[in-house]
Amino acid sequence: MTRTRCIALIAHDEKKADMAEFARRKEAVLSGYRIVATGTTGGKVLEACPGLDVTRLKSGPLGGDQQIGALIATGEVDILIFFVDPLTAMPHDVDVKALMRLAIVYDIPMALNRATAEHLLDSTGN
Ligand code: PGA
Repeated sequence: MTRTRCIALIAHDEKKADMAEFARRKEAVLSGYRIVATGTTGGKVLEACPGLDVTRLKSGPLGGDQQIGALIATGEVDILIFFVDPLTAMPHDVDVKALMRLAIVYDIPMALNRATAEHLLDSTGN
């Protein structure tokens, strides 16, 4: 039996609303995936789309980003969508770099903005 593919979702600061809107727009595609998300982001996605299969991890600053990193390292995340907020003073810079590094190491598709994320989901064949 093949496992359900998994998408990790993280949104920083003012990008959380964007992530909720993105989930609403792509709900049909996302419903074919298992979703893992950092705490607050996952909450926003579930508010927007209560029917999605979302596992909320810890909030990013409390280790949620690193939980997602661990799931990438164990092969459990197939796609990473990480909406970074470029208008903040880079307080999450180390978290962004750490996850970019793992996405490169394990060669999984990673989207850092909405246009790329939409393109990625449109190209997954779902
Ligand atoms: P959050 O975590 O979704 O819990 O806010 C994301 C982050 O800030 O890294």
